[in-house]
Amino acid sequence: MKRFENKVVIVTGAGSGIGAACVRRLFDEGASIVAADVHKENVDKVVAAFEGSDRVYSVGIDISDREQVDALVSGAAQQFGQLWGLVNCAGIRGVGSVLTVEPHVWRRVLSVNLDGTFNVCQAFARAMKGAHASGSIVNLSSAAGIRGVPNRLAYAASKYGIVGISQTMALELGPIGIRVNAIAPGMIRTPMTEVMFEDAENANRIRAAHPIGREGRPDEVAAAVAFLLSEDASFITGVVLAVDGGKTAGIPSH
Ligand code: NAD
Repeated sequence: MKRFENKVVIVTGAGSGIGAACVRRLFDEGASIVAADVHKENVDKVVAAFEGSDRVYSVGIDISDREQVDALVSGAAQQFGQLWGLVNCAGIRGVGSVLTVEPHVWRRVLSVNLDGTFNVCQAFARAMKGAHASGSIVNLSSAAGIRGVPNRLAYAASKYGIVGISQTMALELGPIGIRVNAIAPGMIRTPMTEVMFEDAENANRIRAAHPIGREGRPDEVAAAVAFLLSEDASFITGVVLAVDGGKTAGIPSH
């Protein structure tokens, strides 16, 4: 079944990891896709796999820059016509605790992850307003957006923020036919997290922290994104779906 046939979807962070997996999944299900990433060369490679299909094209943009975001959304509408969906995967990590985080790290993480997600959502919602079609947004939060994570203060702030704006936008945009949901992945093996698997002991600790006993794959997150984005989730808005092998389901009994 092609759930996204004749539907135009913007995917940010499309050059790598979860965003690239979302592009592949949505393309397979029939979507027309505007694949955006700050690293244009990476998203070009993802798009090249579709061998010149006219259902997908790549754009180089920085989501923390409002002018570039406005150009992305208006360019997408010019290319494909009426927009329908948005998947916000673009993000960066940032290390540091309340005692150690550097102000420039704090600002950059918030600026990309939270301001950037907001920028794209606002431009998309404004472009959709008044359209008769329905629409759907999925934002990437994190397990660090529903539980605290030591030494990831700025990242957690940005991901809790994404939950906050997603649920608030669900209330604000429901009446104009747009659903907004968030996904909270556990540890997914991507270029962002590869460094954490370099040390075998650390990799084992990561696996042990997930009741399913392993880290996740980008395609497992993309499957959940596709579900929430699609009309299969037509009565679901404002939820935060954990895709984390049970990591945030509870606390140890000892
Ligand atoms: P990744 O680093 O593989 O991909 C992120 C992509 O975002 C990259 O291609 C990068 O170039 C792009 N990007 C970064 N800054 C940007 C900007 N300013 N403008 C446009 N694009 C930009 O990471 P990933 O693991 O695929 O993560 C995707 C999303 O999922 C992120 O929001 C991340 O926080 C979230 N997430 C990941 C994990 C995980 O374990 N991998 C867990 C929870 C949440």
